[in-house]
Amino acid sequence: MTRSSRWEVLIIRHGTLATTRAAMFRNPDAPDSPQRIDYYLWVIRSPEESILVDTGSSAAAMRERARTVTFPPSEALAELGLDARWAGTVVLTHAHWDHTGHLAALPAAHVVMDRAEYEFWQSPESREPAVRSLADERDLAELERIARGGRLTLLSPDVAGTEIRPGVRLLPAAGHTPGQLMVEVDTAAGPVLLTSDAVHFDEELERRLPFRHMTDVRKAHESYMAIALRERGDFGAHGALVIAGHEPGLLERYPPADGALAGHAALIGHEAAPTASPLEEQAG
Ligand SMILES: [Zn+2]
Repeated sequence: MTRSSRWEVLIIRHGTLATTRAAMFRNPDAPDSPQRIDYYLWVIRSPEESILVDTGSSAAAMRERARTVTFPPSEALAELGLDARWAGTVVLTHAHWDHTGHLAALPAAHVVMDRAEYEFWQSPESREPAVRSLADERDLAELERIARGGRLTLLSPDVAGTEIRPGVRLLPAAGHTPGQLMVEVDTAAGPVLLTSDAVHFDEELERRLPFRHMTDVRKAHESYMAIALRERGDFGAHGALVIAGHEPGLLERYPPADGALAGHAALIGHEAAPTASPLEEQAG
């Protein structure tokens, strides 16, 4: 076990919505048929450190948009010890409302995001109502405060990714937004690729069926291709496990987290306790 593969990934579900395919996909078949969307945030952690990937939505934003809160992110953060004193790193994959909600609750944390994303939300293009409605003005204002306070790092990773820790890479995946980031993490179960909203649903990637909201559909397709290559393992290592950003039912698919997060989170790459080798079992 190398040091860099000692990360594990917590997938924390904080909300859900029963909606239609027309509300979720850009050009869906069966537009009136039902589609569920789940809302997540993620924590990647090693014995030494936790890194928060996005912060979920604020309670106000969920209420205003009539989403159901299944587990307030504030409770999840408290359980994990990510409180006002926590001076760790938050990776912000993009600046949409359902990913930026609790930045103000983490006044000592350092935020990392893509430079193109940050600059986009300051540009006139982002003022278009159909675009602006996908962000929360309170959170964008908080992001400004974070920048002014010297707690914001802007990166521009290329396709090889920017390694922010041994075994943790930030990868670009524009399309949904101009500076959408993904996080690839080396775990004991192999690399895990948190696509965030570069891919909302498994079906989006499998059928190349874009999500409804895109700033650049052509770039989104390029991102799908890059993700598919990582999934196949064309980059030297074995293929990454792709975790879509809003796929419903992920908690049923992966091993459950225990303790206070039980029922609200799955845990990938957790090191299993050593078991007897087959030879010892035979001998026994
Ligand atoms: Zn989202």
